[in-house]
Amino acid sequence: MKNIAADSSPDAAHRCSKRLRITFKGLVQGVGFRPFIYRCAKAHGLTGFVKNTGRGVLVEVEGDAIEAFLRQAITQTPPLSRIDGYRSRRIPERFSREFTIVASEGEGAGDVLVSADVALCDRCREELFSPGDRRHLYPFINCTDCGPRFTIIEDLPYDRPKTTMKRFEMCPLCREEYARPIDRRYHAQPISCHDCGPRLRLLAPGIDPADDPVTEAVAWLRSGRILAVKGLGGYHLACLAGSEEAVARLRRLKRRERKPFALMGTLEMIERTCVVSEAARILLVSPSAPIVLMKRRSSEGIAPDVAPGASRIGFMVPYTPLHLMLLNGVERPLVMTSANRSDDPIIYRDDTEELLDLADAVLTHDRPIRAFADDSVTMVDSGEPYPIRRSRGLVPLPLDLPLGSRRAILGLGAMLKTTFTILFQKRAIPSQYIGNSDSPGTLEAMRAMIEHYGKLFRFEPEVLAVDRHPDYPNRLLIDDFPGAEVVEIQHHRAHIGSLMAEAGLRGKMIGVAMDGTGYGDDGTIWGGEFFLGDPASLKRFGHLRYFDLPGGEQAIREPWRLALSLLVALNRGEASLAAFAGRFGDRGERVLEVIRKGVARIPTSSCGRLFDAVASLIGLGDTSDFDGDLPARLQEAAEKSARPGGYYPYKIGGGDTVVLDLFPLLDAILDDRHGVAERAFIFHATLARAIADMAQIARDRSGVGIVGLSGGVFQNLLLLSLTRSALEDEGFEVVVHRQVPANDGGVSLGQVFLAAAMLEKR
Ligand code: ZN
Ligand code: ZN
Ligand code: FE
Repeated sequence: MKNIAADSSPDAAHRCSKRLRITFKGLVQGVGFRPFIYRCAKAHGLTGFVKNTGRGVLVEVEGDAIEAFLRQAITQTPPLSRIDGYRSRRIPERFSREFTIVASEGEGAGDVLVSADVALCDRCREELFSPGDRRHLYPFINCTDCGPRFTIIEDLPYDRPKTTMKRFEMCPLCREEYARPIDRRYHAQPISCHDCGPRLRLLAPGIDPADDPVTEAVAWLRSGRILAVKGLGGYHLACLAGSEEAVARLRRLKRRERKPFALMGTLEMIERTCVVSEAARILLVSPSAPIVLMKRRSSEGIAPDVAPGASRIGFMVPYTPLHLMLLNGVERPLVMTSANRSDDPIIYRDDTEELLDLADAVLTHDRPIRAFADDSVTMVDSGEPYPIRRSRGLVPLPLDLPLGSRRAILGLGAMLKTTFTILFQKRAIPSQYIGNSDSPGTLEAMRAMIEHYGKLFRFEPEVLAVDRHPDYPNRLLIDDFPGAEVVEIQHHRAHIGSLMAEAGLRGKMIGVAMDGTGYGDDGTIWGGEFFLGDPASLKRFGHLRYFDLPGGEQAIREPWRLALSLLVALNRGEASLAAFAGRFGDRGERVLEVIRKGVARIPTSSCGRLFDAVASLIGLGDTSDFDGDLPARLQEAAEKSARPGGYYPYKIGGGDTVVLDLFPLLDAILDDRHGVAERAFIFHATLARAIADMAQIARDRSGVGIVGLSGGVFQNLLLLSLTRSALEDEGFEVVVHRQVPANDGGVSLGQVFLAAAMLEKR
């Protein structure tokens, strides 16, 4: 166990007393902590009590073995709990006769943490399928080790009346289990059974509610229809992964053209389809049960449209009893994608009409969801998790920071993959994934969640850390906190800050932010940035050479415009310009004209846009269906190559601010006679080496030998590993993301961390 801040100060008067009062702080509610304390106390023959408070857990024990009890309590904590600190002192004896768990007391301030939702445990799974068990096939089975937490909690302390389970009155049998300290459901707040718990219903136009909704739902799925299924943090849209027709329909309904869908399957099914490393397997069956992106082994039983052209597939295991029952019935992998349209927040309210716009039927129940949460998504890099989305199963767990703030700070995140983060003292709590804030509904969802976190953690922001972009919709939330001081944090500094925060670094680092787009200090669009400094002062010492983004947003959706603009900038000659523009007919001509006139162009140093342009230039695609679409194709192509040696040329110049000029690379890649895959690979290798060269310059100037890699482009595992190797070959220590994503989902953490550092210095 880490982070024990023991403060044992025996009161002189009671030094010999046999009664000890202990308060525990940390993740101690909703994780089986009180039953654990109960069992420890009993085992040592002690009397007294334990209770949840708004600040943590309070214990009083009395007897001969109080020291032994305390040792056991802090060293053998339940698997889901985490003690961040405790205080103990001797108090007068009370000669209590037994050990009890007493009802919770109210209000307190933000020291208590909220448990994340936990995937179905092995013992509950066994009971679920034991014909003799009274919870046989009960779709909401749970215990102190598993089940819903964050998504059902309305307020703290964590007790049934403060969850959305409050409307279900326990039957006598459940009540007995709940109250029996040796029971594994002792004080399991969501405890319930067939007799007293939530009820499933299958709703569809023109059918009577089924007697056996699960069997009926299985039949609907097997026949190729689309179901909205209520999960822990919201609704999924589910259909057979092998049904081309169902998957194609789902794409139309969701208005999502090519972005891969996540799948759900048993470990066996997953291993048939993907290469499952040991690290991936551990992640899949971990309590947070995230979607894990893995290399595809076989496409059997998976419709091509699930993940068109992608060599990686995202899979998760069934993490609720209902999921498991559905999968057992269907016996094949299911598409399980968040119920929403493109980038809106996930649907979690029981709005049947809205859901029936997206699905043929709705499999729902009457336990309300208090906080929505999309599934978490992760990859594996060097045997470690490499997060893409930190959400269900992981939020609202805190990160401990190397520095803190006495003032409460709220970070409002970026426009894409929006999250917010709250920071108080030396602790940050990043929120779940919310959506894209330019999408309708996202801002309202974010506002509601900020309020919810405020209530749970007794948090009122005194400082707002926001992106510099003047047009980010997130900025509208500033008005909600009229008294708060606003601190602007540049987007790519925030990326680097998020990495420093999670890695616990407060000293100097070289920060490489290879990203899509973000608003720069100079009003241009940044996205290929090199920083040097500590969290309070990150100086931009270099960047990619600027190029023009013709027509702004449009060039992001249609990267061929960008490619054309680069061909002009490179002076590639009339013939090649005409050939490239000719592919787009009249539009090509018009865009070429606009580019030549030089109107509506915005200078950018974005690495993501450079990937877009290169993909288009070498013929991997011309339009982008989702953020990172073309860069992913470029990566996929490179990974299929035989990894040829060699590099393309590039130049490093400039004065105080160093400029990495990749124009020579673009010329070379156009002239290269290698195949597309080989060229894609050499592009990656060259960029990795150029980054290492830039880091050398920073080290020569400063002596700093730590390099951090962040920004959305580093979701590209090939670039990540090539860059890390290039840096390690030069003797650098390399830091990469392990807790929050390298993409914009991590920005809010970086915002609060850098703001805290700046305020501390001030
Ligand atoms: Zn369980
Ligand atoms: Zn019951
Ligand atoms: Fe970004």
